[in-house]
Amino acid sequence: PLACNTAAPDEGNMYLLGHIGSAEIKDRFLKQLISGEARSAFFMTEPAEEGGAGSDPSMMQTTCRKDGNHWVINGRKAFITGADGAKVGIVMAASEEEDSRGGACMFLVDLPDPAIRIVDVPNTIDTSMPGSHATVEIENLRVPADQLLGQPGEGFKYAQVRLSPARLSHCMRWLGACIRAQEIATDYACRREAFKKTLIDHEGVGFMLAQNRIDIKQAELMIYWCASVLDTGDLGSTESSMAKVAVS
Ligand SMILES: Cc1cc2nc3c(=O)[nH]c(=O)nc-3n(C[C@H](O)[C@H](O)[C@H](O)COP(=O)(O)OP(=O)(O)OC[C@H]3O[C@@H](n4cnc5c(N)ncnc54)[C@H](O)[C@@H]3O)c2cc1C
Repeated sequence: PLACNTAAPDEGNMYLLGHIGSAEIKDRFLKQLISGEARSAFFMTEPAEEGGAGSDPSMMQTTCRKDGNHWVINGRKAFITGADGAKVGIVMAASEEEDSRGGACMFLVDLPDPAIRIVDVPNTIDTSMPGSHATVEIENLRVPADQLLGQPGEGFKYAQVRLSPARLSHCMRWLGACIRAQEIATDYACRREAFKKTLIDHEGVGFMLAQNRIDIKQAELMIYWCASVLDTGDLGSTESSMAKVAVS
């Protein structure tokens, strides 16, 4: 995925900016992601131990308020994939403004920024994801008003626009990895001999590879099914959740 520029979170972020971004935002932020010159991060989740937003984004504690021609953002975020080393950030915060209170805003930011401090970069086993999944502290981050994505207060809606296709593209990346693993395993089982026959001819090995093929085909069909729902313009929230559980 990294080599094809379809890795998370860049793929989902590109999708979101392609759908919601103004011409100026596309030119300034999206272009560098599409060309692969920059990586991005999506700042939504917050530390659970502080009661912040997780599977329920409406619990968002990070706030944004207007100050002249800028917005000022404060809060803490967790599990922010790729934050360390990203050049583009999409930061989500709950609005404190009268006309958009109860809603969220999304902002495009240039990274690194001294107001976004990386507190911790956990040591995880998924080394294929550069930048790991950081915890960050946002303190008085000032963002020019023209770097607000879309309309104020519409952030939760935009998160939904991003999340369903992003779930599906997770499934597509996993399917690709599984097909490759299956190819490697089958190739080896067809070459390696033990007890005077190739491994594939031992039922214990052949059955496992056969079961894998069945699982892979089921995953593929589920992905096509969910994609066909998204193609109709439907948000596909239920379908993409089902696909993500089944395919993972
Ligand atoms: C590898 C990784 C990368 C990530 N990258 C990012 C990122 O780049 N940016 C970002 O903003 N976030 C990111 N996240 C965070 C991710 O979006 C959250 O982990 C997710 O939203 C769940 O929130 P939570 O961990 O706080 O779990 P919680 O919301 O505390 O949920 C805890 C448990 O409750 C269950 N649960 C929750 N709701 C329901 C429900 N309605 N029905 C049944 N069970 C339920 C869940 O299954 C879970 O087991 C990442 C997470 C991981 C693991």
